[in-house]
Amino acid sequence: MKLKSIYLKRGKEESLERFHPWVFSGAIHNADEGIEEGDVVKVITFDGKLIGTGHYQIGSIAVRILDFSDRIIDKAFYAERLEEALYLRIALKLIRNDNNAFRLVHGEGDFLPGLVVDVYGNTAVLQAHSPGMHYHRKMIAEALTELKGIDIKNVYYKSETTLPFKAQLDPVNDYIIGKFETNIATENGLKFHVDWLKGQKTGFFVDQRYNRSLLEHYAENRKVLNMFCYTGGFSFYAMRGNAKLVHSVDSSAKAVVLTEQNVELNFPGDSRHKAFAEDAFKFLEAMNKDEYDLIILDPPAFAKHRSALKNALRGYQRLNALAFNKIAHGGILFTFSCSQAVNKEQFRLAVFSAAAQSGRKVRILHQLTQPADHPINIYHPEGEYLKGLILYVE
Ligand code: SAH
Repeated sequence: MKLKSIYLKRGKEESLERFHPWVFSGAIHNADEGIEEGDVVKVITFDGKLIGTGHYQIGSIAVRILDFSDRIIDKAFYAERLEEALYLRIALKLIRNDNNAFRLVHGEGDFLPGLVVDVYGNTAVLQAHSPGMHYHRKMIAEALTELKGIDIKNVYYKSETTLPFKAQLDPVNDYIIGKFETNIATENGLKFHVDWLKGQKTGFFVDQRYNRSLLEHYAENRKVLNMFCYTGGFSFYAMRGNAKLVHSVDSSAKAVVLTEQNVELNFPGDSRHKAFAEDAFKFLEAMNKDEYDLIILDPPAFAKHRSALKNALRGYQRLNALAFNKIAHGGILFTFSCSQAVNKEQFRLAVFSAAAQSGRKVRILHQLTQPADHPINIYHPEGEYLKGLILYVE
């Protein structure tokens, strides 16, 4: 089948020449008749030169480039990209007896815009963020189970909340290949249940693996408060790091149950841990000063879009100010933002303002980001979404 083309306005190929993988709708001059959402299209410059092939979508990002050539997008294409992605994870030493949870495909970071794949043992959870990837899901699932060097038996598709609502694709969350086997996965020797059926994202936040290890390093003898705990990842690392006590807080009662289950899975009967279903802001306001000397703040994205930036920054400032006011002398604060719309400098400024407000002596020990299985395509800086700071507070 002959592919249809979209034609750019004069000069609008510049960012594509620098391998940025998005074509914005404003850059399009005209398009062949009958192009439909999710189609694979060719992108042609004003001068008639082919510059790439990608998935077409109605919206501000009109084409996500899959390859900067006229490459055929078929199963062999996906198999090749997935092999490259797997090769990197093998090089990163993420596939081990004591670690079987990692991100295999991180969208643009793995040259597969619109696609996320997280692996939990023999199960891959596939998430489409574009209609094009939704249409290709079966092909991708097959290529995943055929990968050599990893034994993926089950592919669960989870895109009910990630596809554009207006596209009316009505995706159903279900197994494309295989079935439910076990939902216990292992990260750095710690076990956890992954709820890919109902949980947030693909069921676990694999992007905090490296930062959790750092937390383990600092937890010894500390009284730890894990805010926005979700499945309790930071909590069980703190316990292995010999924390004196660990308190986990999340506004969702379900998250609190998940955290308790996961702590129990690793440290049965350990009385150092308690979990509370409460609002983080209220909890911080109500708690006594000096109760904790290690606090983790890992809130959900306060700004999902640029329009919410101002409020988001105010939110980060307020949250961090509460922590600075209450943390004990010599305390360590792990503070994060996973909002793509908030950049490193803006986040740091919000935390700086919070510190200044509290008047405490604050030093930056580490500047954190996402781990290497969430690689940032150098031509697509938007892919850098996770920001964090480890601060020493006197
Ligand atoms: N730190 C977690 C991920 C956090 S996701 C990890 O390592 O896996 C964000 C969590 O914040 C969600 O579980 C959500 O239920 C919770 N949340 C959102 N708003 C909240 C609030 N106001 N107070 C407490 N928890 C909140």
